[in-house]
Amino acid sequence: MACCLVSMLGLSTASTAAGPQETGGDQSGTELRLMALTVDDLPANCTCRDLESWRQLTEGLLEALAEHGAPAIGFVNEGKLYAEGASLPEPERVDLLRRWLDRGFELGNHTFSHPDLHRVPLAEFQADAERGERVTRRLLLEHGRSSALRFFRHPFLHTGRDLETKHAFESWLEERGQRVAPVTIDNAEWIYARAYDRALDRSGTDAEWLDTAARVRTAYLDYMLAQTAFFEQQSRKLLGREMVQVLLLHANRLNADALDELLRRHGQRGYRFVTLDAALEDPAYQLPDEYVGPAGMSWIQRWAWTRGHRGDFFAGEPEVETWVRDLADG
Ligand SMILES: [Zn+2]
Repeated sequence: MACCLVSMLGLSTASTAAGPQETGGDQSGTELRLMALTVDDLPANCTCRDLESWRQLTEGLLEALAEHGAPAIGFVNEGKLYAEGASLPEPERVDLLRRWLDRGFELGNHTFSHPDLHRVPLAEFQADAERGERVTRRLLLEHGRSSALRFFRHPFLHTGRDLETKHAFESWLEERGQRVAPVTIDNAEWIYARAYDRALDRSGTDAEWLDTAARVRTAYLDYMLAQTAFFEQQSRKLLGREMVQVLLLHANRLNADALDELLRRHGQRGYRFVTLDAALEDPAYQLPDEYVGPAGMSWIQRWAWTRGHRGDFFAGEPEVETWVRDLADG
């Protein structure tokens, strides 16, 4: 399938005749792999609250994406556009979303207030999802795009604890012209981001924390590349080939500072970045997902679970280093 997408996207096929190698070597430089980038929790997921920090965070992300010519979709929590107690969104915060559209990126819905479908009733979840579309729709119209949002990302990747709820929500989305945005490379990036925030927040009183923040960035990059390798392997185990991946990231300061290097290292691994639409043309995304367990996990693992895989299939996922966890919790 990668070959078809490659030709569809007008990319060079010179190095891809055989498609991704079954061995999945680390840095061969000859394999071509494809990945869509998705960024959750817009406009910002940060311990920082001031507008200037949010602007810098947004610009850091958008500049890195532009530098690599990488398309991306940002998933919005419109509740973050409101100051506490306000009934109207803050224009300056709305402007941060506008920047994504100005630069040609897509926006999708991630609900208004980030509720958990495993904890709230379906009707409440749907009302929150609907409330989360209003400003984004207006911005899409303003940019001459269809006012219809096309993609929805479940908070926590929680898609429902029973098939009835899961399917009811998916049908509701479909009626609204939207589809679920799956994730194949799930990760614990948010733990590194929390550790990074804590280090940066303390650096104002003690500059040594800047060194700690740098260590978190380094550890994060190694972890994310290991995570990508793990899900390449999961794809080969399930499908006998490497599928077009969808990476989950968040709009945080860590990515604002590390995304350029993250994309560069994925580029060295053979990745080219494609739109979510293009990624979803991989027929793997048509596989049935009947997972209704408690985890918010990769769709590769949901498909595997639906096929009856258990235990060993899922083994070997990289772990977050203890010092990073401790710092995040501290
Ligand atoms: Zn989220």
